[in-house]
Amino acid sequence: MASSTASQQPAQVWDESQCVAALAQLERLQAQIDDLRLTIPRVVAPLSPQITKRPELFAAFKKAAVGSQSNIKAFRTTWQSQETQALFEHTKASLEANSDLTPGAQLPRYGWEQKEIRDRDAEARRRDGAKDGEDKAVVSMSKEERERILQEFRAANGQLKVFSKDDDRDILIHFISGGLKYRFHVVVNSETNGGEHLDAECLGNGEPFVSITRCVSLRPHANELKPLLDMIAAYKNVQSNSCAKCGKLLDKSALVPTARRSKQPEEANEKQETVWEALHESCLD
Ligand SMILES: [Zn+2]
Repeated sequence: MASSTASQQPAQVWDESQCVAALAQLERLQAQIDDLRLTIPRVVAPLSPQITKRPELFAAFKKAAVGSQSNIKAFRTTWQSQETQALFEHTKASLEANSDLTPGAQLPRYGWEQKEIRDRDAEARRRDGAKDGEDKAVVSMSKEERERILQEFRAANGQLKVFSKDDDRDILIHFISGGLKYRFHVVVNSETNGGEHLDAECLGNGEPFVSITRCVSLRPHANELKPLLDMIAAYKNVQSNSCAKCGKLLDKSALVPTARRSKQPEEANEKQETVWEALHESCLD
């Protein structure tokens, strides 16, 4: 354990993934503590009148007692683990540096384990996507082409505020949908090989914005401007806010569908308009 003379500052500032991992660890610890509350009911359960034969009673009691003991052991192991102790030390140092816990009170209590898994999957997919991208041809767009795409986008989406600068290489899109203000930032970056790549971010800390950024970064046709802008507009225009895959509004982590994906137009749709659907991040393929 850190002594009381430990540094007033946390050894280092944690990034988001470290904070999520720590919250997930605390959630696992909390689940173990919650489970331990059932220790006594589990141990006394075999003493019910249903079991009449003594050997059976003994076997059931032994099983319950030993099972409870291993739960306590497992809890102790998690508590004493280096991961948990390092977390406590970091928390202590952080609290000494800044005792205002107000921002922490706004964080959800549950869902961190799920988020840790999703983040890890998204990172793996992003890395795979980046590998695929390396094989693709260099994509580059003229200034006039970008201007035309943006003009058409503005004309088709009058309800969105679209700002652009640096020859339309830096685009900001604002709108309100479902009572939330969304701000998307798109940047056309030049690469040394003469190509370009598009970065898109849904600005804002916390959900659903962080999840939206992850879903947008996993988009197909990652370096095409028009599909990206249309995807952003779909956060306002989508026909149904329920998930197109599971049909629900909230997923297991109580998160709304934060992905937008286009559906192949059906033949009956004569105008061949792209139909956008909402999907949970956890329901993305
Ligand atoms: Zn879903």
